[in-house]
Amino acid sequence: MAKKQFKAESKRLLEMMINSIYSQKEIFLRELISNASDAIDKIYYKALTDEKLSFNKEDYYIKVEADKNNRTLKLIDTGIGMTKEELEKNLGTIAKSGSLAFKKENESKDGHDIIGQFGVGFYSAFMVADVVTVISKALGSEEAYKWESKGTDGYTIETHEKSDVGTEIILQIKENTEDDSYDEYLEEYRLKAIIKKYSDFIRYPIKMDITSSKKAEGSDSEYTEYTEEQVINSMVPIWRKNKNELTDEDYANFYMEKHYGFDQPLKHIHISVDGAIRYNAILYIPENIPYDYYSKEFEKGLELYSNGVLIMEKCSELLPDYFSFVKGMVDSEDLSLNISREILQQDKQLKLIAKNIKNKIASNLQSLLKDEREKYELFYKSFGRQLKYGVYSDFGSNKDSLQNLLMFYSSKEKKLVTLDEYVTRMPEDQKYIYYASGESYERIERLPQTELVAEKGYEILYFTEDIDEFAIKMLMNYKEKEFKSVSSGDLGIEENDQQTDEEKNENKELFEAMKNSLSGKVKDVRASKRLRSHPVCLTTEGEVSIEMEKILSAMPNNENVKADKILEININHEVYQSLKDALDKDQEKLHLYTNLLYNQALLIEGLPIQDPVEFTNDICKIMV
Ligand code: ADP
Ligand code: MG
Repeated sequence: MAKKQFKAESKRLLEMMINSIYSQKEIFLRELISNASDAIDKIYYKALTDEKLSFNKEDYYIKVEADKNNRTLKLIDTGIGMTKEELEKNLGTIAKSGSLAFKKENESKDGHDIIGQFGVGFYSAFMVADVVTVISKALGSEEAYKWESKGTDGYTIETHEKSDVGTEIILQIKENTEDDSYDEYLEEYRLKAIIKKYSDFIRYPIKMDITSSKKAEGSDSEYTEYTEEQVINSMVPIWRKNKNELTDEDYANFYMEKHYGFDQPLKHIHISVDGAIRYNAILYIPENIPYDYYSKEFEKGLELYSNGVLIMEKCSELLPDYFSFVKGMVDSEDLSLNISREILQQDKQLKLIAKNIKNKIASNLQSLLKDEREKYELFYKSFGRQLKYGVYSDFGSNKDSLQNLLMFYSSKEKKLVTLDEYVTRMPEDQKYIYYASGESYERIERLPQTELVAEKGYEILYFTEDIDEFAIKMLMNYKEKEFKSVSSGDLGIEENDQQTDEEKNENKELFEAMKNSLSGKVKDVRASKRLRSHPVCLTTEGEVSIEMEKILSAMPNNENVKADKILEININHEVYQSLKDALDKDQEKLHLYTNLLYNQALLIEGLPIQDPVEFTNDICKIMV
């Protein structure tokens, strides 16, 4: 019989795995058991819609059998089975679409993330076995098949005798090596412990033949051994258990088992509501951004169960977009099993549950912020953007519950601070919450516009994400303090005007000339009140800021929205004298200087210069 080769990428992955990249070999059992459980689930769902099929709970189980003499471990399930084609498709290829690219990117990392993430659970069997044999008979099929593989060198498929529908997986357990013991995977007590640890809440019985001893009849000192089939798992789903029966490890295991993510969750939220609505939920706040989070493939949603039975894998109605990173499941007795997506969208119960969940997530994030700041900051680094988006979306209708979760980088603290922290330490004479926008903290730090506010000793929040200003515009104020850009017209800081009327008139003529020279590029040219050491900067009037202009103009089919720009000149700077001299003596020079200053101001803002060649030529002109 010809041996078929694994696809190339599968082969590499297998090699990685077999070379024990995964530190915990024991998880192979979890993977195989959850596959068996999935296979039984599939019959169960079929029976829900197929009248010809009935589902008797007693007929469905998973059995684990160890044979020390032959060094084999067998997993038997009465699930849906696999046809020949399914054996080839499901077990012959590891990497599914899109996964290869990701693996390449992560080549240097350990294999940990890869297992499970792409449904390679089955292959973990090769961590402990030299040969894996799968004998399967699919539901509705006459023939059974045997799939067999020694790992990287490919696999064979042939017909085989099997009377009942279901799958049998036989592992030829490896011999012990100097570094690793494999014997343990043939030991009853060890297998029992692994099943308990990872698969306790599997809904079908996981059976094992357990050997015990009892006193022999009529004797006080002699014992006889006997074997009896036992169910190892408690079958109570974790979400039905009492919170205080469960440890952090239980929650972490459930997260792994469900493949919600491959990081350790930052926080779990266990909800049991029993009132007008009834539901149990286990939700997780992940630490890391899922690898596909910003791709088209990513779907938000929670698993939805009706009375312990999974009815939908990703119920998107249960999560608002801004909490799309939340993973987990919801189980409610009040939902019908045969519910369709269309009906679900109208479902009143579901809407109530969704609302309740939304509030719980917000309040749990709030307590994470309060009690575990470091963790919260990790979370915020990954998902803060979503919260800002939440403030902005739906016309700001969620801002009340989200504004206290926001954090921004502070000029004073040099770290992220909350709005509440900012407002609490505001000096009495400070009217506004100041912010400055730019590409990076370093660049904002050097913005000329921040000079006056910083000199006053006021704290400035640094906005580096495109969503920041939009979110703040939606908030408008926080605890009655209005937000104010350091680039906006009125900064609310009293400055004594040292200029005489005569000087002002002089200015007027100069600024008028400069404005004309810029022919419409700026709305006005003015003497700056905010500049200290810098000669020039751009500020804005009206709703649209320079940062917003940048973002809007980067959007497809933008409507060319422009900020109303003001060119501010520092009249205490030497260049001011040069400008005045030029006004009196040399109009052409004034035009040259004006353009140079304007272009400098653009550069500081990170805005493009319309004609860079002209700009460099202008610089040369003043050098010769
Ligand atoms: P995943 O479970 O994430 O899909 P696995 O590598 O664990 O990935 O399994 C691959 C596929 O093989 C499964 O999706 C399923 O279709 C099939 N399979 C594995 N084990 C069984 C089983 N015991 N019964 C039926 N099908 C199975
Ligand atoms: Mg699996």
